[in-house]
Amino acid sequence: MLTNKETIFALSSGAVPAGLAVVRISGEDTPAVLASLVGELPRPRQAALRSIRTRNGLVIDTGLVLFFPAPHSFTGENVAELHLHGGRAVVDALHRELAEFQNLRPATPGEFSRRAFENGKLDLIEIEGLADLIAAETEMQRRLAVEQSSGGLSSIYYGWSERLTRARALIEAELDFPDEEDVPGSVSDQVWTDVARLIEEMASHLEQLQAGEIIRDGFKIVIAGRPNAGKSSLMNALAKRDVAIVTDIAGTTRDVLQVDLNVDGYLVKLYDTAGLRDTDEIVEREGIRRAERTIAEADLLIYIEDLSVDTAIAENLNGAVLVGTKCDLPRRSVRDYDLVISTADGTGLDMLRALIVQRLKAKVHPHSMAIPSRARHRDSLTKSLMALRASLCAPNRGLDLRAEDLRAAGEALGRVTGRVDVENLLDVIFGEFCIGK
Ligand code: GDP
Ligand code: ZN
Repeated sequence: MLTNKETIFALSSGAVPAGLAVVRISGEDTPAVLASLVGELPRPRQAALRSIRTRNGLVIDTGLVLFFPAPHSFTGENVAELHLHGGRAVVDALHRELAEFQNLRPATPGEFSRRAFENGKLDLIEIEGLADLIAAETEMQRRLAVEQSSGGLSSIYYGWSERLTRARALIEAELDFPDEEDVPGSVSDQVWTDVARLIEEMASHLEQLQAGEIIRDGFKIVIAGRPNAGKSSLMNALAKRDVAIVTDIAGTTRDVLQVDLNVDGYLVKLYDTAGLRDTDEIVEREGIRRAERTIAEADLLIYIEDLSVDTAIAENLNGAVLVGTKCDLPRRSVRDYDLVISTADGTGLDMLRALIVQRLKAKVHPHSMAIPSRARHRDSLTKSLMALRASLCAPNRGLDLRAEDLRAAGEALGRVTGRVDVENLLDVIFGEFCIGK
């Protein structure tokens, strides 16, 4: 299948020491290497218990060995898996032995996946999904990743690609054989109806991107307010541990602090910012600048105010939740708050948590997990959508130009999965219309 490629190996399981260590080998020379290590090759895709030996016959370890002949393997190459005991010296000894083989070398990061991509085993979405699956820390991250790594998201794009190819084939047919009887009349109408439908589907798919990004990267909640309002105390209360330093000296939090929370299976990134006030102090001022930047990126801003002091400053709080703190103290502020809390006695904290869940789910309520989640997806999908819209927006443009829009749309779409097929337009044309018979 592949030639001139070195065979690679790597420890594919986690850090040693551990109960098990799985070493993976991939490439043309895998059968020879495996035969040298374990003697007769195990039957394809069946685990066999074997002694793993050096060429001098010394036993390195005894463990399960699997052989996946090309192309039915993760990478599409000949692959072997050696399940060893996960001791450091065991793994070292195997690595030393493997390093002795010609044309065999340690894999570089991501190299197995890269080969899987190059051999058509996984597309880019599936590879990204696999990386996300391995990194997933919350249940929703896992669900999103598994949908991508197992081809659920890709299948949507392949479906669209097929429709685009068909649309182009019909247009090309009309361009190439305008008088051909076998080309059904008003083929164009049919094409543009489906393109319009595709535009709608793509646009509503893209609307899910924000949800995908929030699931993947976390829902950003920023706590902001004046110095001493109780921001750091609230951060600690929500995180249920001391993340931020709490003092009654205004200006204590100078940089943006962040903790990860798991809220109902969603990753929430909670930020505590430097208190907002006018200051000449240079470090504090930089802290405030960073706070403002973080606030601008927030999915939810919790603006808090110490209700035991009469502040009554009008702030620009569009979309923020306004929370009055220190409600255990006598109230002086006359302002209306969305919620009043006290981190000292716990008042209102459950309500604040419920409010966070409610705001989170208002932004993320996916009907399906087959949704895009990266800027890369957005860029290519947006380009594709723009080209599709262009193909419709000026119907009086020449058919050839509109066909070119469809081609550009298909190409941009193909970049999402990385599978830009050499489109076989003529196959489709002849298959559908028997032109020229
Ligand atoms: P920040 O500057 O906004 O981060 O405020 P801190 O969280 O550091 O709190 C400033 C001061 O207010 C500290 O002395 C806290 O102990 C106190 N404080 C914070 N929250 C409460 C509260 O709910 N009730 C009372 N009585 N004091 C609080
Ligand atoms: Zn603070």
